[in-house]
Amino acid sequence: MNQRLEVLLVSTPVGPLGSGLGGGVELTVLNLAIVLRQRGHKVTIAAPETSQLESFSIVEIPGELQTLAQTQNRHDPVILPDNSVLTNLWNYAQQVADQYDIILNFAYDWLPLFLTPFFKGKLIHLVSMGSLSDVMDQAVHQAIQQCPGSIAFHTHSQAETFGLKEGYFCLSNAIDLSQYQFCAEPKNQLAWVGRISPEKGLEDAVAASQKTGIPLMIMGKIQDEAYWQTIVQNYSDAPIQYLGFLSTEKLQEQVRQCRALVMTHRWIEAFGNVAIEALACGVPVISYSRGGPTEIIRDSVTGWLVEPDNINELVQAIQKLDQIDRFVCRQQAETEYSLDALGDRIEHWLFQVISS
Ligand code: UDP
Repeated sequence: MNQRLEVLLVSTPVGPLGSGLGGGVELTVLNLAIVLRQRGHKVTIAAPETSQLESFSIVEIPGELQTLAQTQNRHDPVILPDNSVLTNLWNYAQQVADQYDIILNFAYDWLPLFLTPFFKGKLIHLVSMGSLSDVMDQAVHQAIQQCPGSIAFHTHSQAETFGLKEGYFCLSNAIDLSQYQFCAEPKNQLAWVGRISPEKGLEDAVAASQKTGIPLMIMGKIQDEAYWQTIVQNYSDAPIQYLGFLSTEKLQEQVRQCRALVMTHRWIEAFGNVAIEALACGVPVISYSRGGPTEIIRDSVTGWLVEPDNINELVQAIQKLDQIDRFVCRQQAETEYSLDALGDRIEHWLFQVISS
């Protein structure tokens, strides 16, 4: 199909774009905006105030940020603060809906999912996390029933957490490969990248670094300060270095010099952007065999998938890193995770939605 679409991207309400609070969603919004623009579609982004996204102008929406879904309990009801940015974003979307062919939601929240049938088939959702709460599960199932085709996940493992085997689109993810440089000869150090928050399980990577004596470079937003302080105190003699929350350019500069990226998540990771960013630099990924990374890493070829929560297995995998060809890691990123491949997948979904 050659149709040029008007697309509204409605960003996450947990933080402004560029703050790091949105985790992987921030990079996903950017990459989808880039590929849609490259293919001639007109893209508008609505996001919380002070958001910044490279060359894209943003419709900034004021209001209180939304509480993180991963800090709530499974049976908690929906929480909306007074003057909620989530509500304000969707008031805005409703006002301008007539100007768009498609409205793509990135919020992991009940409200936009509930609104699906009110947007006349235009409102679709890219779900960014696995199942965390009963209300969200119900809202996802209801959106699929009322508007088939309106839900996409990043991986099948993520869809499974909602008890789904079909009826959704699988978008995977991608990165701008030109921003990541290949490094054939790393230093003797490991990388850990992500939001510093309990579901990401940083302490296991630190424990593995302590056991092997190989320095661990830690990069990412400290989302839970108390959690971070506990790790620092419990592993005071581990060879770790915290480098802060880095721009993509600086991030890849650090990651590519590492022998491996270590992923030690406790939850079912929906995708794991950091895995494909590492592969793009030629860096193998050692990950707990849980969620999205199991669909990304080719075990023993571009990394190692190890038993979840097993630090000894992490250590064994670190000792086998020389068996991995870093060039093959970069190649995998090029064939499966280019922006072009993402462009094909997102257009496929959008045109499917439009034609139905
Ligand atoms: N990230 C970053 N700078 C850092 C650390 C992380 O920009 O110093 C980004 C990284 O590029 C990735 C995101 O944070 O896009 C983490 O996404 P991921 O999908 O791995 O996990 P999430 O936070 O969504 O659970």
